Amino acid sequence: MRVVRAIAELDVAPGSGLVPTMGALHDGHVALLRAARVENETVVMSLFVNPAQFDEQQDLAGYPRDEARDLEVAEREGVDVVFAPATEELYPSGFATWVDAGETGAEGAARPGHFRGVATVCLKLFNLIRPERAYFGQKDAQQVAVMRRLARDLNVPVEIRIVPTVRAADGLALSSRNARLSAEERDRALALPRALASASGAPDPVAAARASLNGLEPEYVEVLDLGDAKVLAAAIRVGSTRLIDNVLLEGEIR
Ligand code: AMP
Repeated sequence: MRVVRAIAELDVAPGSGLVPTMGALHDGHVALLRAARVENETVVMSLFVNPAQFDEQQDLAGYPRDEARDLEVAEREGVDVVFAPATEELYPSGFATWVDAGETGAEGAARPGHFRGVATVCLKLFNLIRPERAYFGQKDAQQVAVMRRLARDLNVPVEIRIVPTVRAADGLALSSRNARLSAEERDRALALPRALASASGAPDPVAAARASLNGLEPEYVEVLDLGDAKVLAAAIRVGSTRLIDNVLLEGEIR
């Protein structure tokens, strides 16, 4: 496995499978790496905590980082190249061009500038690595929709692949931010996956989910149309930790 930090040293042949991550790898990331490993001759994982997609400085400053462990996980999962640039490598002084990700409700409305940051960094990664396929998790369902729209609208020849959400045994979707939850907060956070799961069969899933959130005030509960599928998505805050999740309502995640 090669670890590349400089764009100038990134001589990956076009046609690889790309897994973009911000590190602090867990089994959700591993599922993406395994899907990529099965479908591609060369697997590239990017490891970059993208400041441009954080709408809260505190969230960025406290974002968990453990590169040594991430590299071990990548190596174990058969990644060929890890691209782990410094911030200045992707955003050198004078950087001024941004991708406007267009209309995005839910996460886009709750986190101003988030999808602009995501779209910009992912387009940069697509241009640098020229993957045939790129892998994203269902947990960030809107991110997948934004990526597919970006690829279509800007004629980027990449297939966006989606991998189902990986959960802990108690049902909480794995997330790098879960590490910040105290035991008591984690207990309260379980209301989110439970409310979404129980509401998915209800006639009005949004109202049903809101009603069973055990007093947790959601930032939003919305039905998102992903093209092939509709999902029921919500964001909550438990203490200072923000969590998102979604479940399939109809169609197919693919
Ligand atoms: P992040 O490092 O949080 O930017 O996530 C990198 C990728 O992993 C994104 O495509 C996420 O959607 C995906 N991901 C994060 N958590 C999970 C999960 N629990 N199950 C599946 N994919 C996930």
